[in-house]
Amino acid sequence: MDHGLRRRTLAARLEELEIDALVVRAPVNVRYLTGFTGSSAAIVLDAQEAVFLTDGRYTEQARHEVPDLERRPLGEDPAATIAGLVAERGLARLGIEAEHTSVAAHRRLAEQLAGIDVVPVEGAVEELREVKDPEELDALARAQTATDAAFDRLLEVIELGVSEARLADLLAEELRQAGDRELAFEPIVAFGEQAAEPHHRAGHRLLEEGDVIVLDFGATWAGYRTDMTRTVAFGSPAAELRKIHDVVRQAQQAAIDAVRPGAAAGDLDEVARQVIAEAGYGERFDHGLGHGVGLEIHEAPWLRRGSTRTLRPGTACTIEPGVYVPGLGGVRIEDVVVVTDDGARVLGTSSRELIEL
Ligand code: ZN
Ligand code: ZN
Repeated sequence: MDHGLRRRTLAARLEELEIDALVVRAPVNVRYLTGFTGSSAAIVLDAQEAVFLTDGRYTEQARHEVPDLERRPLGEDPAATIAGLVAERGLARLGIEAEHTSVAAHRRLAEQLAGIDVVPVEGAVEELREVKDPEELDALARAQTATDAAFDRLLEVIELGVSEARLADLLAEELRQAGDRELAFEPIVAFGEQAAEPHHRAGHRLLEEGDVIVLDFGATWAGYRTDMTRTVAFGSPAAELRKIHDVVRQAQQAAIDAVRPGAAAGDLDEVARQVIAEAGYGERFDHGLGHGVGLEIHEAPWLRRGSTRTLRPGTACTIEPGVYVPGLGGVRIEDVVVVTDDGARVLGTSSRELIEL
């Protein structure tokens, strides 16, 4: 991963953001810019250089993971340390990550930095993270291969009477074995009427004949997370659920077909929403179409109603329409797609047809 290139790209944006330097403290953003995988660090990045700061627990780890930057201790009082660095560099306007700085941390920093403008900046690193480089895409593809493999293996062990929680454990184990040990997130497993809840927590419900099974899960590779949902049936599902599956599959395909560079996120959401509305289930699709994936399971860009954000080549995001009918059940189908120069590439290979076990 070319962390230096990422830092230079960010440094080139400071002027436009009207700041002399940016303090990055969100661990995921620090990781993106340096390769450091610990939980406590900071980078102060100005137009010329970046200084990496971490606490004593991570000195040794940082020496290995961040060999290319000047490294300093974060100290007992990080605000004071950062203020010292800002004074040393003669910076007048310091950007902080608005989404990742508590009100208290902002106040402490402002107190230490009398005479310096502390400017909240939104999404500066997140915006860079939207577009994946070839190494990131490779990591995502490997995470997806592991996810597809785990799904194949799970289908072999689904049996009458198994509980959602037990199936979630089995799925987690398959994901860990096929991927990089770490899960992208706790798998969602929902049977029958429970599937009407989009983010159902796997519980004690036992699998019955005719249930749909919503499985939402993902493996990781080198810190990159993937996200897939399949809805399968155990035995023969109710005719309406079969119909809903067909509608959701068509909605997903229509949205995937509409993905291309320059497409607005809100328009893609609308494409899927229209297919579902035409089938009479408009009220039953009550979440956004998708989200970016990468170092975080949910990251920019957000594919939701009204968003004018446009997609760029290299962006990885999910396309996940769903229809949820209380008392009956639900269907969601989700895949990660990568925006190409003229369309989209679906990363996963698992069938999107209704599998009846
Ligand atoms: Zn998901
Ligand atoms: Zn998702």
